[in-house]
Amino acid sequence: MSLEPAVDQRSRGATLQVDLSAVAANVRLFADRSGGALMAVVKADGFGHGATRVARTALRNGASWLGVTSVEEAVALRLDGIDAPTLSWLNPADRDFGVAIIHGIDLAAPGDEHLTAIVAAARRASRTARVHLHLDVGMARDGAAPADWARLCRSARRAERAGAIRVVGVMGHLARADEPGHPANKAGRNRFAWGVAVARRQGLRPPLRHLAATAATLTDPLSRHTLCRVGAGLVGIDPTGRTRLQRAMTLTAPVVSVRDVAPGTPVGYGHTWAASRATRLALLPLGYADGVPRSASGRAEVWLRGRRCPVVGVVSMDQVVVDVGPVPVAVGDVATVFGPGDDGEPTITDWARWSGTIEHEIVTGIGPRVLR
Ligand SMILES: *Cc1c(COP(=O)(O)O)cnc(C)c1O
Repeated sequence: MSLEPAVDQRSRGATLQVDLSAVAANVRLFADRSGGALMAVVKADGFGHGATRVARTALRNGASWLGVTSVEEAVALRLDGIDAPTLSWLNPADRDFGVAIIHGIDLAAPGDEHLTAIVAAARRASRTARVHLHLDVGMARDGAAPADWARLCRSARRAERAGAIRVVGVMGHLARADEPGHPANKAGRNRFAWGVAVARRQGLRPPLRHLAATAATLTDPLSRHTLCRVGAGLVGIDPTGRTRLQRAMTLTAPVVSVRDVAPGTPVGYGHTWAASRATRLALLPLGYADGVPRSASGRAEVWLRGRRCPVVGVVSMDQVVVDVGPVPVAVGDVATVFGPGDDGEPTITDWARWSGTIEHEIVTGIGPRVLR
């Protein structure tokens, strides 16, 4: 008797499949559009698609850089054997940057505190840290405020002369790139150009200048500079909805039970829905703990036997009920919760609309119980 887990999908719970050939096609499109180098942003486990797999696929299809938020995410890529240039841009100022420097990970410095910690770690490690100075170009989130920028550049130049760091990049991030033509984009571009000019006046010569993420890479050529940092687009999300990208995720779940109910039968917590006719209900073993947003209750649909069927009642933590009407659904049928959309099945775009959010939140929200 085999002790291998059964591979028959009907015996599994909810399952997430990632189509790396779709990711590859998206990477090639962005490598072409970037006009320079392409950084594959694989933060948050590659937007839920698997950081290492997306990173490898990206590097094979035209990306030459990887980007993540935390040093831990970058080190995890190194431990998986990926040695491509990698930038980490979001860390506490008081952390020990030594592990990043030892692993040859580039670090963003959004202010003097971070820079001081990076310089100290570089000295301890007797290495030269590679630094990207991060300027806030208009979202008051990460990055140095314009008022602090000249001083940051001066400190960085001093540390560079002392051999502790090399400033290899200047970076910024646009707040409204998903609204092409919005005046905030031009203002952000101008502030970025100003920031690069200030850095040069302080004697810095950063070969990399990067401002564009997915939306700007697709719609705003003036923002592309020498490197584009693209995350969402690689997994098929275009925040502007203008470019046809390939969605890469398919989330399925087996029907674990069916029941035929009489008209008027109420369903689920709070009895928010009741059958208006005699119908068949199918139970799927996934819920909001698995990334099915509760806020999509009352609107969502899944794909069963070639048809869209409504999710009825509220989404529970572990399960949802589907009204399959006259469709002869049986235990063991597999429902597609979302997929690329090619056959008519719901997509992450539908789920984002049904739950009042963006596709990014859907793909990064798939819970740990779901089989990959
Ligand atoms: C997430 C992130 C990106 C990637 O943005 P997408 O719109 O997903 O391409 C780029 N830069 C920074 C600073 C980010 O936080």
